[in-house]
Amino acid sequence: MENNKIVCHCCGNLIEKEDFLSIEKVWGYFSRGKDGQKHQFNLCEACYDRWIQGFKYAPDVTEITELM
Ligand SMILES: [Zn+2]
Repeated sequence: MENNKIVCHCCGNLIEKEDFLSIEKVWGYFSRGKDGQKHQFNLCEACYDRWIQGFKYAPDVTEITELM
């Protein structure tokens, strides 16, 4: 592991100051062969946009007025 470097798992680009998606999933029973495994990956915004274009339904979007 590189020290504290965040990399997009899809395109391999270094994620620096931009916002990005970080997903962590612990698979439970009824998964197909991933029981008890924790999966984690990061996606840069460009890869996220490309990914959701393949969704049948777009993500639910809520406008947040107070950004942290
Ligand atoms: Zn990417």
